[in-house]
Amino acid sequence: MNQKCSTCLSCGMPLEESQYKRQGNDGNIYCIYCVHDNGDLKSFDEIFQGTVYHLKESQDLAQPAAEKMAYELLLNMPVWQHLQQKEKKHD
Ligand SMILES: [Zn+2]
Repeated sequence: MNQKCSTCLSCGMPLEESQYKRQGNDGNIYCIYCVHDNGDLKSFDEIFQGTVYHLKESQDLAQPAAEKMAYELLLNMPVWQHLQQKEKKHD
């Protein structure tokens, strides 16, 4: 049970380079952009904004398209899946 993930559990960024890895207070490994210096995972909103920015820059997307993609991307990540479940209310 000590298998290291190769991607950030929060944003899905590949963690091939050790310089991008940081251990959070919860023991999981994240990229340096998703945790604070003290090991706390950043808020969903902070990571969401960063992901939107990254998508706009790297894929030349407009703001609404980048927001939509970032939202779908993040809600499929292990640490944010509970937010998705909260949105999909069983009715
Ligand atoms: Zn990350």
